[in-house]
Amino acid sequence: MIADRLEHICSRIRTSTASCGRDPGSVRLVAVTKTHPADAVREAYAAGQTLFGENYVQEAREKIAALSDLPLHWHFIGHLQSNKAKYAVDLFDLIHTVDSLKLARELDKQAAKRGKVQQILVQVNVGYEQTKSGVFAEDCLDLVQSIALLSHLQILGLMTLPPFFDQPERVRPYFRRLRELADGIRAENLPGVRMEELSMGMTGDFTAAIEEGATLVRVGTAIFGERKR
Ligand SMILES: *Cc1c(COP(=O)(O)O)cnc(C)c1O
Repeated sequence: MIADRLEHICSRIRTSTASCGRDPGSVRLVAVTKTHPADAVREAYAAGQTLFGENYVQEAREKIAALSDLPLHWHFIGHLQSNKAKYAVDLFDLIHTVDSLKLARELDKQAAKRGKVQQILVQVNVGYEQTKSGVFAEDCLDLVQSIALLSHLQILGLMTLPPFFDQPERVRPYFRRLRELADGIRAENLPGVRMEELSMGMTGDFTAAIEEGATLVRVGTAIFGERKR
């Protein structure tokens, strides 16, 4: 079941990259496992998936510990509170959701303690939604410049969670805005700042996101089914 769904998503990723002339290897699938048990992750791993995303630190700590026998990669995609930064640095290869200097400083401090350079993305609130996290587009360059000075963090790109629409075509302008923002920051050639990754697109709209340049798509429901909470 999970294997079939995963293959279906991978095939849609290949079709989308082909339709816009992109290399299929330029898009990575983050399989989002929040609320789903460790056994579901094992099933996905057996089908070839090694990259997973979690939203809640406590849930992730338990799940990752239960799966420590597998060679998995974990990304953090939820809202991160500064007091959980230490756990996030221990658990995750990439943190997609850095949206304040306060959080960045705490992550930098925790990474320094561990002798790690933590890779991060800066989360942008492209839709100016009050309920969502993320820095506003016009404040993004300033935040990136400040974070670039922190020696134990490395910025790889940008992430967004755009406004929800039933039709993916209505989300597309927000994906485009994130790509244009990344292009603008890349043109600044800031030392230590890479703008290679664009984390955007979920179950309902990941093909549009790929057409607009996504390099990381975060898909949960289409692989693991509806979440119960
Ligand atoms: C839950 C979640 C996803 C996955 O959403 P689906 O619609 O289930 O694919 C992607 N990104 C973030 C930030 C999420 O919280």
